[in-house]
Amino acid sequence: MDTQLAVLGGGPGGYAAAFLAADLGMQVVLVDREARLGGVCLLRGCIPSKALLHVAKGMAEARHLADWGVRFGQPQIDLAAMRARKAKVIDTLTGGLKQLAAKRKVQLVRARATFESSQLLRLEPVDGQPLPDDRLHFQHCILAAGSVPTTIPGLTLDCPRVMDSTAALELPDVPESLLVVGGGYIGLELGTVYAALGSRVTVVEMTDGLLPGVDRDLVRPLHKALEKQFAAIHLNTKVAALKDLGHSIEAVFDGPVQPKTQRFGRVLVAVGRRPNSSNLGLENTRVSLDAKGFVQVDAQRRTTDPHIFAIGDVAGEPMLAHKATHEGKAAVEALAGHPVEFRPRAIPAVVFTDPEIAWAGLTELQAKQQGRKIETAVFPWGASGRAQAAGRTEGLTKWIFDPQSQRVLGCGIVGAGAGELIAEAVLAIELGCHLRDLAETIHPHPTLSESLGIAAELPLGMATDIFRPKR
Ligand code: NAD
Repeated sequence: MDTQLAVLGGGPGGYAAAFLAADLGMQVVLVDREARLGGVCLLRGCIPSKALLHVAKGMAEARHLADWGVRFGQPQIDLAAMRARKAKVIDTLTGGLKQLAAKRKVQLVRARATFESSQLLRLEPVDGQPLPDDRLHFQHCILAAGSVPTTIPGLTLDCPRVMDSTAALELPDVPESLLVVGGGYIGLELGTVYAALGSRVTVVEMTDGLLPGVDRDLVRPLHKALEKQFAAIHLNTKVAALKDLGHSIEAVFDGPVQPKTQRFGRVLVAVGRRPNSSNLGLENTRVSLDAKGFVQVDAQRRTTDPHIFAIGDVAGEPMLAHKATHEGKAAVEALAGHPVEFRPRAIPAVVFTDPEIAWAGLTELQAKQQGRKIETAVFPWGASGRAQAAGRTEGLTKWIFDPQSQRVLGCGIVGAGAGELIAEAVLAIELGCHLRDLAETIHPHPTLSESLGIAAELPLGMATDIFRPKR
């Protein structure tokens, strides 16, 4: 087989690249070992987890109504129905992608692909599916092979009670107790789901705080809320050993936890992901990897091999679907000769817990590391009418800005719906808005989106709802 553009990987980076390339008139073959398009994000990541978090949110809101005098009975949970509903969401979306690929004449090939050279992929059948050819020759390839979960050496038990995120999303049952190893994105999101469904969730995190690297002002309210949702959160703690007792798993903790040995119905290991760059035959190309295994790319997502581009998780942090999509489009436009570069000022990140945490652009920590002078403006949601009306006053909205120019450089939000609210901040940072632009932008009342405008008013001394004594 011969093609102008081969795309290796059918996730949000790969299919976005393939579709745009086809729209620009290129001949495209997309290779993925999965039977369906969508990658980890759609098939066993972002989308199924959000479907389950939707359920958790509904249940939590129903519980919160007790504060308003409305009480419901104990929820009746039909796990089979929940799994079926989740499967339907995935089927609809992946079916839609298949149709879009067909309409654009993107040829889909299900195979395990490895590079034989800078312009040749070897294709091996998956599940005995016949292949049109066992070699795919290309002019260019966009590598979008994603990432895989990291494992802890010595802690992988060949036992279904010890799950990675894929297994946990299958929702095999609601264990009486769940140990979550890793207080990052996945551990906290899936911990939230299982806690809502009724598991006693214990989180073990090896560093001194949940979501390492994330602004502590944002993490603090979440930590407080999770202490109520989870049975326990153990920081500065690792799991030294896991033992399969048949009906449960025994975990031995290394850290300030008592008792040191505890039993759990199931264990979820979510200690990070690593780029899927080994076993691809990249040594047969001129592609170079960095020390962590990420493919090295330039601002157009060209690798050190002139025939190969790389995008998404395999090409560097942050490992987020929306970053992959934008990189994919930049790579295709570069290939088409357009003067593009992937140089965002702000890549939003969202942790879909309850409350949500979202941030974009420069963080205080990064500013400190760069020795860059910044100021912050923080609006606590206790002063928001909408937050009061919804009983969600734990949130806060924080701008990070340049004190000299008053341009906004970064934003962090913790609170209900933070993941949706951050989009305005991303646009403001990308457009180089000043505090005054945000303060003068009329936000609808009463909404939580007002918090972005009010936070910007604070340093200008214009905020109505917060008293600032005269200097
Ligand atoms: P993560 O990097 O977010 O968190 C892993 C956590 O595990 C860290 O806090 C780390 O300190 C801890 N850890 C590592 N080794 C440990 C050990 N031995 N014992 C205890 N704790 C340990 O990784 P993740 O949660 O596995 O998620 C992987 C990636 O998937 C994320 O980096 C993110 O890019 C992506 N993701 C994104 C979203 C989202 O956008 N909402 C959701 C899920 C996953």
